[in-house]
Amino acid sequence: MEADEVSEARGLPSVARLTEELSVSALPHAVLVHAARDELARAREGLARGETVSLQRLRAGVLSRASTLAGWPRRVINATGVVLHTNLGRAPLSRSAVTAAAESAAYSDLEMDLSTGRRGHRDTHVAALLTAVTGAEAATVVNNNAGALVLVLSALAAGSEVVVSRGQSVEIGGRFRIPEVIAQSGAILREVATANRTYSDDYERGCTERTAALLKVHRSNFTVSGFVHEPSLAEMVQVARKFGVPVVNDLGSGCLIETESLGLAHEPTVSESVAAGADITTFSGDKLLGGPQAGLIVGRRELVERIRRHPLMRAMRCDKGTLAALHATLLHYIRGDAGSEIPTLWMLGRRPADLEQTVRRWSSMLPHPGTSIRTCASAVGGGALPGAALESFALVLDPSAVGSSAGALGAALRAGSPAVLARAEHDLVWLDARTVLPEEEAPLLDAVRAAFVPGQGR
Ligand SMILES: *Cc1c(COP(=O)(O)O)cnc(C)c1O
Repeated sequence: MEADEVSEARGLPSVARLTEELSVSALPHAVLVHAARDELARAREGLARGETVSLQRLRAGVLSRASTLAGWPRRVINATGVVLHTNLGRAPLSRSAVTAAAESAAYSDLEMDLSTGRRGHRDTHVAALLTAVTGAEAATVVNNNAGALVLVLSALAAGSEVVVSRGQSVEIGGRFRIPEVIAQSGAILREVATANRTYSDDYERGCTERTAALLKVHRSNFTVSGFVHEPSLAEMVQVARKFGVPVVNDLGSGCLIETESLGLAHEPTVSESVAAGADITTFSGDKLLGGPQAGLIVGRRELVERIRRHPLMRAMRCDKGTLAALHATLLHYIRGDAGSEIPTLWMLGRRPADLEQTVRRWSSMLPHPGTSIRTCASAVGGGALPGAALESFALVLDPSAVGSSAGALGAALRAGSPAVLARAEHDLVWLDARTVLPEEEAPLLDAVRAAFVPGQGR
């Protein structure tokens, strides 16, 4: 046993002793206390299992935990190639969206018409832009698309039936399950057809006097192929018209541009949904739209008004920062500079030749025997365009060149400043150029230089 190791709980320092010793760190006292309690509890658990505890490691653990707690959230350079990385906050905002959100933090005309001095509604301006870019009659916005769907179904279908194809009665992720969402809204799920094949007349047979809506759900995070069939949205609209009920289309990613222009497969757009006759379309703000987390609702004026007047609307309303960032993001679409200004779209649109050039530049600035340039596949992520593999280039680090492992080098990169999240594959660490912004290149290379050296993170 080393001199600083203890094997009994009474050998551990008190919370007060630990925080006193670590007060030189200048971390807030309450944060140190919280971290010390956690680490001491862990140490006691270790002792109970018969392990010994190094006091030096205990102090380092408290410091690390306290600085993580006080320093959250930390800036991360995303070198994974996953564009909409849910764990990294999905869509990074455009510069003007960041500025707009920051400016909205002060007093603003959030709910006031400054020309009359009268009270206004906080969704008016975003709604105006949304109708302009989608062609819908009316629009509103809530905290996220999951909330949007609960609200829409609560307002339009509580106590009545919602007809859904068995092939779309799915889980989107994070346990967001269509049957449970429908139950939560007070509506009754009426499943029709089969998991793989659905026809118009399945919807027709599912419609009765108890039907309040037909629901279409975008299968966002998986693909189906083979013996499958599904009626088009326009065909569903035809059936719904016959029974005088609305079609609600949960589009998920909410694309406002033609994804073909980015070299991707076609992703249904909001305008297409509106034009095909969907009475209500819901989608996320922070997926392919490239804005802040939000749930956007567009459609027929009378239905949108019913939704806005529902009591849940107040419980789901967006914060001013979200609305300002969303407004600034939508302005990019209106001005026509979305492809270059919205980071998500810029990343998705990057061509392999450009990515290769970027990685060659990195490589020339990082001459190291353990690096190589390789092709790789980036992903859209965030439950959008599943299965789409985007041809990309990566700077690949071989950890064995510095006597390390992919896991240890990845951890060293995550612990660096700024933190870098890379991809570990085949015992190598991959830095995909696609998701790294131009202004992040220099800090990325500095972080790699600091972590990719012998003796670091073994
Ligand atoms: C992502 C997604 C949701 C949930 O949207 P959030 O904005 O994450 O709440 C709901 N439905 C579909 C089809 C989705 O793809």
